[in-house]
Amino acid sequence: MPADLGCAERFLAAGVALDSTELIAQGRPVGVLDLTATGTRYPNPLSIEQDTVERLLGERLTEVGGAIEWSTEATAVRVAEDGAEVDARGADGRPRTLRCAWVVGCDGSRSLVSKAAGLPFDGGPRRRLQVAQINAKVDWSLPHHGDRTCLLLDKDRRSAARPAPAAVTAASPSRGSRTRHRSLR
Ligand SMILES: Cc1cc2nc3c(=O)[nH]c(=O)nc-3n(C[C@H](O)[C@H](O)[C@H](O)COP(=O)(O)OP(=O)(O)OC[C@H]3O[C@@H](n4cnc5c(N)ncnc54)[C@H](O)[C@@H]3O)c2cc1C
Repeated sequence: MPADLGCAERFLAAGVALDSTELIAQGRPVGVLDLTATGTRYPNPLSIEQDTVERLLGERLTEVGGAIEWSTEATAVRVAEDGAEVDARGADGRPRTLRCAWVVGCDGSRSLVSKAAGLPFDGGPRRRLQVAQINAKVDWSLPHHGDRTCLLLDKDRRSAARPAPAAVTAASPSRGSRTRHRSLR
């Protein structure tokens, strides 16, 4: 998608292209998975920070003449054959209605736009799953390769470490963790 928006090269420059995953089961290296896809100009997953993604998309939007209206909520979306209407409430609290040819819903898993368009949400909630993401320099005896992720499989916990442009990031889903986390539905 960044290629369609004319900013693929900036994404590549800001991220780390990953070529493989090292599997570690209960502390022992057990194999390496190749992550390279075929039939695409961008065959490798890109490790890139979320705030970098948002900054690059925002910059590209500005270049093509768009602007982000912060603190504005869509309160209702009505889809018709020839376009759509969106009721919105801005930072000043005043309601207004926008008429447009297209509405693109990027409003998360409880998307108002998807509901208005009658699009189902595939999948279901994950209960008792917690994810912690930590940006850190790791100090361990496991092998380290600059373009390889590391998946650590233990009995009740899975951790992944991936190289980030400026640091190494570890994401560790676990049960009952007391660390700072985002709960997934
Ligand atoms: C722990 C964790 C770490 C992650 N780390 C990374 C990372 O390093 N790099 C990366 O690329 N991805 C990362 N991700 C994944 C990334 O967060 C998601 O892929 C991405 O946020 C999905 O974007 P989205 O726009 O679809 O939804 P969201 O990020 O959920 O954004 C939806 C937005 O819509 C807004 N919204 C909702 N309803 C309305 C409404 N009615 N009116 C107006 N606005 C509305 C919400 O306020 C929100 O801002 C991570 C995810 C998790 C859980």
